[in-house]
Amino acid sequence: MLIMDGLGDRPYKLLRNKTPLEAARKPNLNKMAHNGETGLMYTLGPGIIPGSDTAHLSLFGYDPVEYYQGRGVYEALGAGIKLKKSDVAFRVNFATIKHNKIVDRRAGRDGCCLDDLAKQIDGMKIGDTRVIFKHTVEHRAVLVLRGKGLSKDVTDTDPHETGVPPKKPKAINKTNSARKTEKVLNSFISKANKLLDGSKENKKRIRRGLLPANTLLIRGAGQYNEIPSLKELFGISASAIAGGALYKGVAKAVGMDVLDVPGATGDKNTNLKNKAEYAINSKSDLVFLHVKATDSFSHDGDYKGKKQFIEKVDKEIISRVLNEFDLMFVSGDHSTFASIGEHTAAPVPILIYGDKKLVRPDLGMFGERRAALGQHRIIGLDVLPILLSKAGIVGKYGE
Ligand code: ZN
Ligand code: ZN
Repeated sequence: MLIMDGLGDRPYKLLRNKTPLEAARKPNLNKMAHNGETGLMYTLGPGIIPGSDTAHLSLFGYDPVEYYQGRGVYEALGAGIKLKKSDVAFRVNFATIKHNKIVDRRAGRDGCCLDDLAKQIDGMKIGDTRVIFKHTVEHRAVLVLRGKGLSKDVTDTDPHETGVPPKKPKAINKTNSARKTEKVLNSFISKANKLLDGSKENKKRIRRGLLPANTLLIRGAGQYNEIPSLKELFGISASAIAGGALYKGVAKAVGMDVLDVPGATGDKNTNLKNKAEYAINSKSDLVFLHVKATDSFSHDGDYKGKKQFIEKVDKEIISRVLNEFDLMFVSGDHSTFASIGEHTAAPVPILIYGDKKLVRPDLGMFGERRAALGQHRIIGLDVLPILLSKAGIVGKYGE
């Protein structure tokens, strides 16, 4: 299962009215599409704009309505933090603020010095609550509040726009735990802001011409409960190859073995060749291979960069893995339109390739609009059952 994050897009004039995927030179993906099944996937259902977390749960066969635990939980698991049931975990952006207004929600997407800053924040005490804080990839970080009587029922501080101040975290209900968490978060934010503002790391960033990472935007509160594994639910073993913490975390939550691949960073310079080698060498029934940069390019409005990255995936992953697996599924977790820099509800093209006796080819090429001529119209939750039946792991329903 190869997922290019935020793969789906719309046509752009400068790409000769093609989408980045349509415009990309991708002989290997086209070869697969020509001999494979294609179609469109509304990952969470028509009209629902997927987050990456809920989208991946569906792709793994887990209905997010039942299993979703908040983005913070997956980021924390993916960052290697051992969560307790009473912990509250959040996803954090290092961000840039000037005169209390947000200038950049991602501090220029540059991870410089953020490891060191995170180490200074990690271990803070707010009353009887302990702060666990870890920098992951680019501007991203994880916050875990550990202590008595905390709750995930607090609002986000990230307004998802620039030119406005960050929001204040607020208790969603009147329980003592929600109120306490609101208080703890507020003190944490002012303490962290002071530390960031006066830090030598930010002076270094400014000297290097980077935006200072002088505030934290906090979102996606969640509390962790173990859920049944892929082995328990579907009887399959699975391993995961991803750079981003979120994807490692969702994979861990469903019981995948998360492989540590050298150079798999989850950014635009990630080592795709290593990812392909590790996928081929995995002995698991299912290998999940995730690439993130397609989505990041779109969030930054860079549809040309997205097109070039798809070409790189074709050359460095697809060409290598093409004849190594019995069955392959290639798609995105959702569309991200570079035109608006955000996820949209537009369906993503899917591609199923494998044993000629089991695959009924659509004679397509791999692209959003060609996929509309393909045989499939599915949602994310359909993916695993389709793969399991083609792989002969699930048999007939009835006689
Ligand atoms: Zn995504
Ligand atoms: Zn995204």
